[in-house]
Amino acid sequence: MNAESNIEKQLRESEERLALAVAGTQDGIWDWNLIDNSLYLSPRWKEILGYADAEIPSNFSTFEDNLHPGEKSGVMDNLRKYLNGEIDQYCTQYRMKHRNGSYRWILSRGAGIRDNDGKIYRMAGSHTDITDRKIEEERFRIFAQIVEQSPATVVVTNLDGTIEYANPKFAETTGYSPADARGLNPRILKSGQMDPGGYKKMWDELKQGREWRGEFHNRRKDGTYYWESALIAPVRAADGSVTHYLAIKEDITERKHTEQELRETNLRLIEATKQAKALSDLLARFDPLTGLGNRSQLHEELTQLIEEKGTGILMLANIDRFKTINNALGMERGDELLKQVGDRFRHICGQTDRAARLGADEFAYLVTLNAFESDGNKQQAQLCLRDVHRELTQSYVMNDEEIMLSFSIGGVVISPCEAVTSQDLLRRADTALRKAKADGGNKKTVFEYEMDEAVRERYLIETDLRRGVAARELRLFVQPQFDSAKNVHGFEALVRWNHPERGIIAPAIFIGVAEESDLIIEIGQWVLSEACHFIVRLERAGRPAPVSVNVSPREFRQNDFVERIKKAVSDSGADPTMLVLEVTEGVVIEDVETVIRKMAALVEIGVSFSIDDFGTGYSSLAYLKRLPIAELKIDKTFVQDALRDPNSGAIVETILAMAKHMNLRVVAEGVETQEQAEFLDARAKVIHQGYLFAKPADVDTFFAQGE
Ligand code: C2E
Ligand code: CA
Ligand code: CA
Repeated sequence: MNAESNIEKQLRESEERLALAVAGTQDGIWDWNLIDNSLYLSPRWKEILGYADAEIPSNFSTFEDNLHPGEKSGVMDNLRKYLNGEIDQYCTQYRMKHRNGSYRWILSRGAGIRDNDGKIYRMAGSHTDITDRKIEEERFRIFAQIVEQSPATVVVTNLDGTIEYANPKFAETTGYSPADARGLNPRILKSGQMDPGGYKKMWDELKQGREWRGEFHNRRKDGTYYWESALIAPVRAADGSVTHYLAIKEDITERKHTEQELRETNLRLIEATKQAKALSDLLARFDPLTGLGNRSQLHEELTQLIEEKGTGILMLANIDRFKTINNALGMERGDELLKQVGDRFRHICGQTDRAARLGADEFAYLVTLNAFESDGNKQQAQLCLRDVHRELTQSYVMNDEEIMLSFSIGGVVISPCEAVTSQDLLRRADTALRKAKADGGNKKTVFEYEMDEAVRERYLIETDLRRGVAARELRLFVQPQFDSAKNVHGFEALVRWNHPERGIIAPAIFIGVAEESDLIIEIGQWVLSEACHFIVRLERAGRPAPVSVNVSPREFRQNDFVERIKKAVSDSGADPTMLVLEVTEGVVIEDVETVIRKMAALVEIGVSFSIDDFGTGYSSLAYLKRLPIAELKIDKTFVQDALRDPNSGAIVETILAMAKHMNLRVVAEGVETQEQAEFLDARAKVIHQGYLFAKPADVDTFFAQGE
């Protein structure tokens, strides 16, 4: 009894000790009696799972039922192994279900008491809630993984910079394995190409506990260089003291290269742009063919002269009939000729004058006059133009061949007394040039204000004519032509403009204007159609006769000229053999082959051609012979002068002889007197058209008279 109570006492004491020890820890206690399979679970054991002592029974199924389902078999297996003696220690971790449904991580440690046979009959141990530690561990594991797998280099150094940790990316970029790296100082990476002041600044920042951002130019283990950007931050212990430095770095070599390339490309671009600009400035001011200035350079010089209130003369020079010459020579030699003209200009330029090429064969010449010697009057300008004209018309030599060119020059005086712009000057010089050309070319004309008036007048006419044509104000007049027997041979169709305010306007006033624009096409088309209807009317009246229609060079040059004529004929139902087209030598002078082709196409359907104003142009027998023409019209100036002026008489005689030889019909225009008629009749069989016989009249008047 005594001994027993002694044992009991010992037992109680040890239980009390245990209870005290257990109460001091945060562990739960379990005590399993394998003989009757009773299990003691301490209140703390239950509390870990969220239960009060009385809420769950202390038995084995409380333990077993709350085990994580996925771990139950493992736990039981482990327990069995311990009981069997297969393992020496019972220490294991598992999850158990908390009252709130979550699982807690439990560290379970225990030991068994064996009987004499070595069989465990009692086993007791503790339950420690290690959930927080587990979470912490897991967090660390993930964090470590992130660092290990990071695409950025991560390096941790101690306070003097010695590497304590470097992740695999570090090895990849530097060539130093993590093992190599440990214990190294990152200064081994220095390329030596960086400003040492940069490192000092970094250390200053770090020593003061601040983080530092920057870029390193580093060298790998194999000696190659690379750039990296870095963030270095102090790592602090719980008490705030700095224990380590953490560097996160990124290889930016490629970006640096791209940046460098971009910078270089940029520089090259800037340089190229500069060169292009210089070149285009140069080109913008020069004519590449002749090396003279161009329009914009001339404009600049004129503007400067005007601003400086200078005195001078501006000339515009044109090669007469350059198109024809160019066609004859071919483009290449045409260009060569223009080059020579450019040289000629350069030759006469001297120090102060300027020459420019403004268009195909359009040149400008600017003379600056000394204001003390000259006020830039018209007379001086005329002398100047004459000199330049004389120089320009000296012969040119090309392939040992002498070429003569004629020039038309228009000039304008530049005077400080007048407020003008360079445009005004160019326009005036151009007006003078047009006048020189209109006067037959090879002329030099100085601008006068009346010319400006004329230009304005022409403009007003053009505008009014456009309106008048649309308002159907055109009228068709016809003038009969008579044979030597005084019978009506045919008619010439002549257009009039029946102006609402000015009455009947003669074509001399408006045809020239119309010819300078597309209006002539419309007018010509209208006259042609009216003339065709007139032909039809004559036929219906039983008095068929040929009707002549004037065709302007511009009309003739239209690509669809032949089609237009054919259409007018077929639309009206006129007999094409009654249609005569009067063309001037101006039409023929251009491109003989095309002219012949067009004429031939119309001759084929019966239309015939007449050369109008014959004798006034440049006609040469040579090409006249090649044209399919039926008639010549002697210009009225020759007819009227024939009796007074022996020259004109000779011309008329020559034309008559030539026509006879070539078997051409001759119409004499402007026969006003009996003497004129007789002069002609004495020499050949000539058709007469003139006031002596009949003036042009409108179609209806003619029909009324005829009946
Ligand atoms: P042109 O083709 O030489 O026409 C002859 C001009 O001489 C006509 O002047 C006619 O009226 C005029 N005339 C006829 N007999 C005499 C005379 O005895 N004495 C005088 N002093 N003159 C006479 P008009 O009708 O004023 O035409 C002038 C020019 O206008 C024409 O000259 C022609 O070049 C042009 N023209 C007239 N109608 C047309 C047309 O429908 N189309 C085109 N493109 N030009 C036309
Ligand atoms: Ca005519
Ligand atoms: Ca004529």
